[in-house]
Amino acid sequence: MKDYLEFREEVCRYAKKMYQAGFVTGSAGNISLRVPDEDNRYVITPTSVPYETLTPEQVVVVDREGDLALDLDYGPSVETPMHLAVYQARADVNAVIHSHAVFSTVMAVLRKPIPPIVEELVVYVGDEVRVAEYASAGSDDLAKFAVQALRENAAILLANHGNLCVGKNLLKAFNLCALVEKAAHIYIECLQLGKFTLLPDEVVEAEKEMYKVMKNM
Ligand SMILES: [Zn+2]
Repeated sequence: MKDYLEFREEVCRYAKKMYQAGFVTGSAGNISLRVPDEDNRYVITPTSVPYETLTPEQVVVVDREGDLALDLDYGPSVETPMHLAVYQARADVNAVIHSHAVFSTVMAVLRKPIPPIVEELVVYVGDEVRVAEYASAGSDDLAKFAVQALRENAAILLANHGNLCVGKNLLKAFNLCALVEKAAHIYIECLQLGKFTLLPDEVVEAEKEMYKVMKNM
């Protein structure tokens, strides 16, 4: 029986990176990876295991329905339905990171999108960072609203909750989480100082086109 250990090691490594970056506390947030074979398997962080002590052997494997595909003592993250809904909707996505990074969450509580204020953001996100409609953590509605807000983009905010970043691989999804958090931080500082200027419309439009090209690279 396959143990998918190399994928579980990768998810474990990025879960610790997310924790060390301060994007989550304890066992909050979750990370998953689509296994690139015919079996429709997904590797995802377990529920309620602190990242500090997480081992690759504790990272779980689920099938398309979210049922455990390996006999383990750990359950999958409560946000598994949201991860699976994204994979279902987006064939181009192989990695999903959901974090509670502070500045992203401030924007999520304000329920305000992060606009195109800095170069790069739209190139990597596809548009402003939209806010998904509110639904409680772990619910099927949250999964539905997340997919609706994400559309073809790479990052969204989850109302009163955190952010969701997707990509071709975990490195891209993780770097995107860091970029979204930095943009949220800059935007909040700008809001406090008052007047600020968005990028020119033609730049934003050109960056949207760049995103479409880069998305599949
Ligand atoms: Zn969460």
